[in-house]
Amino acid sequence: RARQGRPGSYDAVDEAVRGDVTGRSNTAGELRSALRSRGLNIAYQPIINLRTGRIVAMEALARWTTPSGAAVSPDVFIPMAEESGLIGELGAQILTMAVRDAATWQSIAPTGVRVNVSAHELRTRSFYSDTMRTIDKVGLDPALLGLEVTESVLLEESSEAAETLGRLRLAGISLMLDDFGTGDSSLSHLQRYPVIDMLKIDRSFLEQEAGGEEIIRAIIGLGRAFDLKVCAEGVENATQHSRMVELGCDFAQGYYFARPTTREMVPKMLQAWAPFLPVSTQV
Ligand code: C2E
Ligand code: MG
Ligand code: MG
Ligand code: MG
Repeated sequence: RARQGRPGSYDAVDEAVRGDVTGRSNTAGELRSALRSRGLNIAYQPIINLRTGRIVAMEALARWTTPSGAAVSPDVFIPMAEESGLIGELGAQILTMAVRDAATWQSIAPTGVRVNVSAHELRTRSFYSDTMRTIDKVGLDPALLGLEVTESVLLEESSEAAETLGRLRLAGISLMLDDFGTGDSSLSHLQRYPVIDMLKIDRSFLEQEAGGEEIIRAIIGLGRAFDLKVCAEGVENATQHSRMVELGCDFAQGYYFARPTTREMVPKMLQAWAPFLPVSTQV
């Protein structure tokens, strides 16, 4: 039963989990107490296999609501956590929750989980062992875990991050390059890091009226050349969906399929999901 191309029916819930920037600025101290009280949460957004229209994985997106009820955007509190030395603790808490949640989804449908990792975390010596211990604890198959890192990680001079990525990959964890095309990308980095599995095309290229598609085409070509899967971020309408399918993009994510939703909604979403295919390809 193919579903007519239409926005996901989960939009209403997103109001509660969307990272809205608040008027006043929040402090690192508030973030520290939120971490201490396990006050952070996760919103999950599905990643769709464009060939089958099925969900392959859920991306874990950190959410912080202050005691006063204000939602702070991750674009604000992630850099804050990085600058104040809290990113290690934040990342560990998100990873722990995400793999635990993922373990509970497996009885419904085999579904991966994607966790964003900042460069700071990869520089930590214990990142590999901490990650393995966390997934071992819940018995999650490492193949179901994907870590999203940005291109900046590939620019690291230290071999530490490179070594960690290699070990994670050997353990069966997949690695995605997030926001691809916006950083200081260099093709030589892709060559130097044969451990990357997937490129996620930054959503700014889908938003662009002109020129964006040339870049998207180039990234998909790059993926083919380097044997990497390609995922489009920020698919917001039927036109973009069809276009990504036509261009041969492997996966996609965006408000058109579903907005980030609460962890409570995920089992329902997995259960109810009908293959999401472009209208033109439906019979
Ligand atoms: P990201 O990893 O590139 O995640 C995708 C972002 O795009 C999310 O923003 C998501 O809500 C948003 N998005 C998804 N589909 C659409 C769409 O169709 N249109 C538009 N306009 N936006 C869409 P969010 O949740 O605000 O997160 C922002 C960034 O914060 C993430 O970008 C990621 O870099 C970072 N982040 C979030 N959670 C974590 C975390 O646990 N750890 C780390 N290190 N970074 C995180
Ligand atoms: Mg990401
Ligand atoms: Mg991204
Ligand atoms: Mg981003």
